[in-house]
Amino acid sequence: MSPAPPGRGAPRRELPEVAVTGLEVVRAVLPLRRAFVTASGVERERHVVLVRASATDGSVGWGECPALGAPTYTGEWADGAEAVLRRFLVPAALAGRSHGVVGHPMAAGAVEGALLQLRLAAADVALAPWLGAVRDRVPCGVAVGLAGSVDELLAEVDGHVAAGYQRVKLKVRRGWDVEPVGAVRATWPDLALGVDANGSYRLGDLDGALRALDALGLEELEQPLPASDLLGSAAVRAALITPICLDESITCADDLEVALAVGACDHVNLKPARVGGVTAALAVHDLALARGVPLWVGGMLETGVGKAVALAFAALPGATLPGDLPASSRWFDADLTDPFEVLPDGTMHVREAGPVRLP
Ligand code: MG
Repeated sequence: MSPAPPGRGAPRRELPEVAVTGLEVVRAVLPLRRAFVTASGVERERHVVLVRASATDGSVGWGECPALGAPTYTGEWADGAEAVLRRFLVPAALAGRSHGVVGHPMAAGAVEGALLQLRLAAADVALAPWLGAVRDRVPCGVAVGLAGSVDELLAEVDGHVAAGYQRVKLKVRRGWDVEPVGAVRATWPDLALGVDANGSYRLGDLDGALRALDALGLEELEQPLPASDLLGSAAVRAALITPICLDESITCADDLEVALAVGACDHVNLKPARVGGVTAALAVHDLALARGVPLWVGGMLETGVGKAVALAFAALPGATLPGDLPASSRWFDADLTDPFEVLPDGTMHVREAGPVRLP
């Protein structure tokens, strides 16, 4: 019998163990070129927490914890993640013992990512091929925050369409939904358009805003109801034509199993960092692939360190929809790595982060 192809749950090639000489927690603050406003909060600058691992052979690995600056999108946030890293996760990793920490998946994933980079370097293999990537360029979409006015929104979308993005996702919430989304749809009738409510509706909105959005020819409606309301999401899905995508509801592969069992989603937005790093994200990816559930890779306003990981996942066989993979210049004047760019055809090269330059 031939071995299962990569990306279908096959064990990835064994990597060598590496003697780790240091694990350092590094904070950086990057100004955002524009504030990002969603139903969950406002991000005006990027407080990023990084883990830098070093090995006896002189190699260095970086992991990014992209928790936001306040605990509004997830319970995990930058200051909390940094404290948990310094006090629990890094000491445990240096001692070679399991950390026993509940929650804090982004912080734990940053340690895993930094250490994995060392082992990949020792094996002279990049993350994407090691995971089982099937493409070297991936289609890019972009997420657009809540705007100050419909005119402002149309101007911003116009810029993204001109830049070649293959899909535009509009943030919505009660009171900022049917009118702005309808205006974008009227201006670009053929644009691949989705909306993301960040859990801000309730089932009682079904016959109002949600049904009105359903008439706008959307690729998907992302996280209409709060993360824990899977039965509500199933009810919305049963009532609407638009595919339902879950983001915040899916914190691990088991969550996806339950969501599929109750009919709560058609698509999955996989954020590798948010679910806890490479191993946890692979489990979500492999389950979605096995079940034939379309998946795309979401963004957390990552720097180039996290972007390289997101791109590797976007190159896997289960990532069948364009992800939220904006160019570095979408958020930063100067990224921590060489900038990631969107090509004129709306794709991005899958590559490693390369050297990290702290501000
Ligand atoms: Mg989302």
